[in-house]
Amino acid sequence: GEALGLIVYLDGRFVPEEEAVVSVFDHGLLYGDGVFEGIRAYHGRVFKLKEHIDRLYDSAKAIALTIPLSREEMTEVVLETCRRNEIKDGYIRLVVTRGKGDLGLDPRKCPNPTIFCIAASIQLYPPELYQKGMKVITVPTRRNVPEALNPRIKSLNYLNNILAKIEANLAGVPEAIMLTQEGYVAEATGDNVFIVRNGVLMTPPPHLGILEGITRNTVMDLARDMGVEVREAVFTRYDLFTAEECFLTGTAAEIVPVIEVDGRPIGEGCPGELTLELIRAFRELTKVEGEPIYR
Ligand code: PMP
Repeated sequence: GEALGLIVYLDGRFVPEEEAVVSVFDHGLLYGDGVFEGIRAYHGRVFKLKEHIDRLYDSAKAIALTIPLSREEMTEVVLETCRRNEIKDGYIRLVVTRGKGDLGLDPRKCPNPTIFCIAASIQLYPPELYQKGMKVITVPTRRNVPEALNPRIKSLNYLNNILAKIEANLAGVPEAIMLTQEGYVAEATGDNVFIVRNGVLMTPPPHLGILEGITRNTVMDLARDMGVEVREAVFTRYDLFTAEECFLTGTAAEIVPVIEVDGRPIGEGCPGELTLELIRAFRELTKVEGEPIYR
């Protein structure tokens, strides 16, 4: 893309984006061997920063990658990257790769992890998406089985999700819902899935093989605060088709109403009442929650 004039954190230094380059021998590039986070800043605060840092270290732990910074130091990397770019509202990408190695895949040949952080102003989705809602499909590409590569790990290996995205693109819809090997609803390519059935808010449990989204957990908390019953439950395409409401959650997308799945209109075919209420509550929370960037 075009140069944005950003200052990027890379391995202990803040450099202009032109100088923020990693080696062709980096195993993040060669093998998708690494972990990352996508984080949002709202109104001069980094939203749910502790949750994102904790998930990054958990992902790293799961792939036996030791991050050479403490959580406090990593928190400061994120905040300082925002400051250097004068970010108040923005999107932050924090990445830790296995680092430079040889052409073999053995991580023991990679002594130093590569760490970088990018903070940019956010490219907002069109507002119509939130008012009108989104049409989605379920796709033939199944979500990675947890026994092979657990989707709870937010790794750099997104090819499974990209294959599903290509299927959505070919079908002319913006997003794909992926199923587990057994045919249960898992998640979208970069978002978690919620449905409302008989007034109960339901979303798949993490052990099914999904990313435990931070927006997902926030929305579950907000719904409980509203007095809504919330359940982590295993459900199928049938439950999607016959749901009263459906929506997706993610850091970038926030909460997106889903109005059609595989050609079946959901509820009245427009964003549901609870969905809209949660969108409002989420917006309010972003005004007060988060780690201050400027003190
Ligand atoms: N599932 C996948 C596969 C994702 O990539 C994301 C985005 N990180 C999510 C769900 C939503 O997670 P979060 O709310 O933490 O952004």
